[in-house]
Amino acid sequence: MKFDVMTLFPDMINATLGESIIGRAQKAGIISLRAHNIRDFSTDKHRNTDDTPYGGGVGMVMTCQPIYDCYRSIADAAPEGERRRVIYMSPRGRTFTHSVAKELVDYDRLIFLCGHYEGVDQRIIDEIVDEEISIGDYVVTGGEIPACIVIDAVSRLIEGTLASPECYEGESHASGILEYPQYTKPRCFMGREVPEVLLSGDHAKIERFRLEEAVKITRERRPELLLLHPEYEAALQPKKKKKRTVKKNEE
Ligand code: SAH
Repeated sequence: MKFDVMTLFPDMINATLGESIIGRAQKAGIISLRAHNIRDFSTDKHRNTDDTPYGGGVGMVMTCQPIYDCYRSIADAAPEGERRRVIYMSPRGRTFTHSVAKELVDYDRLIFLCGHYEGVDQRIIDEIVDEEISIGDYVVTGGEIPACIVIDAVSRLIEGTLASPECYEGESHASGILEYPQYTKPRCFMGREVPEVLLSGDHAKIERFRLEEAVKITRERRPELLLLHPEYEAALQPKKKKKRTVKKNEE
């Protein structure tokens, strides 16, 4: 999977995604990430990339030309026929969730546009962007952190990034509900004991305990998720015993 990020602050992208699991995935060639500096494409004599808004108002708006030329240099160098999507990170976009991450993982290349200041000229969105994606109902100062969040969440779904698919399949949201609490050593911390059942070695009991805890936490914090996934609560219900028909000669 290839990620291209169009930004005025490429160091923010490289620093954030160059470490830890996503950094290793890059080194292993599982993902390729390139941050492109929009300013390098400005034909303005001062290499400006923004201007005052038509119609008045505060703040600056990023201009079309450098973004368009940046986009062209990425698109022209990319192989034909690949599945690609251009995403503008924007608080007006579709809210990013696990299911959006699963959709995006099917592309060969994702090209991100990160806005700054008041955002970008609407005409560049109309010209090159396939979709606007938001990381939530609040506003941050630039699209770089939002783009890193999407790239991180998509990358960990790609085979090889995590040790095995099991690493995310049971996790919050991937399973549809929230995850059970995790514990590690020591057995006792500040007088708080690890739940006894986790030390029992009884896998069926441990699995049931985890399911009970996951359902409990989800019911408390995100009850609407249980409505979408009734199978988890149903699995905790005692199984109805099949009625045995009593044969005459057994009476
Ligand atoms: N004037 C814009 C906000 C600009 S914030 C508005 O009211 O909609 C500057 C940039 O930060 C945006 O262009 C966008 O790229 C990014 N950004 C801010 N909040 C975001 C969010 N919730 N999700 C994704 N990107 C966001």
